[in-house]
Amino acid sequence: MYDVVVVGARCGGAPLAMLLARAGHRVALVDRASFPSDTMSTHFLWQRGTARLQAWGLLGRLRARGCVPIRQITFDPGPVQISGTGPAVAGAADTYCPRRTVLDMLLVEAAAESGADVIERFSISDVLWSDGRAAGVRGHHPGSARSSLRAAVVVGADGAHSGIARRVGARAYRKHPPLTAVYYSYWSGIGGLGASFHARPGQLTLAWPTNDDLTCIYVAWPRQAFHQVRRDIQGRFLSALELFPGLREAAASGRREARFTGTGDLPNYYRASVGPGWALAGDAGHHKDPCTGMGMSDAFLAADLLADAIHQALAGHQPMDQVLACYQQRRDAPTANGFELTLSTARLAPLSPRLEALCRAAADQPELARHVLGVLGGSIPLTDLHTQARLLPAPSPHQAACTAPVSPSLPASRELEVLDMSRYAKAAEVLCAYSAIRWCTTWPHEQRASAAAGSFRRWDRP
Ligand SMILES: Cc1cc2nc3c(=O)[nH]c(=O)nc-3n(C[C@H](O)[C@H](O)[C@H](O)COP(=O)(O)OP(=O)(O)OC[C@H]3O[C@@H](n4cnc5c(N)ncnc54)[C@H](O)[C@@H]3O)c2cc1C
Repeated sequence: MYDVVVVGARCGGAPLAMLLARAGHRVALVDRASFPSDTMSTHFLWQRGTARLQAWGLLGRLRARGCVPIRQITFDPGPVQISGTGPAVAGAADTYCPRRTVLDMLLVEAAAESGADVIERFSISDVLWSDGRAAGVRGHHPGSARSSLRAAVVVGADGAHSGIARRVGARAYRKHPPLTAVYYSYWSGIGGLGASFHARPGQLTLAWPTNDDLTCIYVAWPRQAFHQVRRDIQGRFLSALELFPGLREAAASGRREARFTGTGDLPNYYRASVGPGWALAGDAGHHKDPCTGMGMSDAFLAADLLADAIHQALAGHQPMDQVLACYQQRRDAPTANGFELTLSTARLAPLSPRLEALCRAAADQPELARHVLGVLGGSIPLTDLHTQARLLPAPSPHQAACTAPVSPSLPASRELEVLDMSRYAKAAEVLCAYSAIRWCTTWPHEQRASAAAGSFRRWDRP
């Protein structure tokens, strides 16, 4: 009998199992895959993701496995280019682009070292119930009979097509159909390309260095182009690179080392992520288009929040159902801005005049550029949100319960609590980059740039 069985051992499940095992709970971490293994995903881990790896004591290991820090990102939306990097988050200044073979292996190892039972090549086919509560799972190793794992809590961290979500009947909300279709591959010999985001109407092209001196290049088209692209992936991919001076030539000067990988199945949703005896983490509970590279960082956030909630209940501090309900709210609030930003990016629409105004201002002002890049990375400073939050209506008793301090038994999470904007959700919305754009574009033209820069500077006070 386990305290918790976690189904899915990648960015959502493995850190959750690790944190719960570190807090002294009996955890089974199961996956139908074995590790190391790849999965369909590229690599962008923003500072808020690397900050969590650092807090968990895993960032040094990532670097030791040949993952180089990225200290300059170019954002090229057309009329201008912005270069720089977002502000550090909890002391983590760099972004990283690890291969999933490397990152996921490291996370699984950390879970095992912490005391979780890692069960690989075990495919879950059922949820067990007792008195209306999830009470375990049933599954099998290849070629073996089915067996059961009983637990007080079942967590589905089994990805966007979560079988656990289906079996517990988790309903989706804030649903949007897939907006993009994507393909990516890896090149050697073009390390000088650096990390860049190129956005044009109807197309997004991204490039960044990853492990083994490889450069990943990723192209997104509108979802409706998927079947056309699939008929001639290489041709469509190379002509997409032509839009950006030097990119096709750079790719031609290197060597493609892998087949193209891609999909048109990139839904956008949140799912009800808690119920009697069960919870969902990572993509199983919230998924969005990968164009902004937030999925892994969000999965880390969910792992942190859910580990804290489950620990509080298992330690007898609060009733299980109450802390689980708070978990969903604490996950949704800080991911809301990223969800909207991702949807608007994934529409691949022409740059709005407002956004163009902000980009032009940022191109000339490194500090503003830093903050623009920080919006995506989740590193917009939140210190002044305390001030802003005071102007907001008092939280309801339920919200207050949900923002109680995290458990002292999980100290690694504390430093990052400031990032979990749940208690400042409204303030965060007010202060998000799009608000800055709105301010600067409704003001007289000549005041726009300085107004936007000034606003950001105000938030950045230490
Ligand atoms: C093309 C693409 C590019 C992306 N690029 C980025 C990026 O640059 N940056 C970023 O942050 N995010 C990116 N993402 C998103 C990122 O991959 C996900 O958000 C992240 O992998 C979520 O982790 P997870 O652990 O929730 O789910 P997953 O990584 O999907 O892991 C789920 C695990 O559950 C296991 N599983 C499923 N069903 C069962 C079962 N029945 N029994 C046992 N095990 C099961 C699977 O084997 C798998 O190992 C990208 C996604 C795609 C598709």
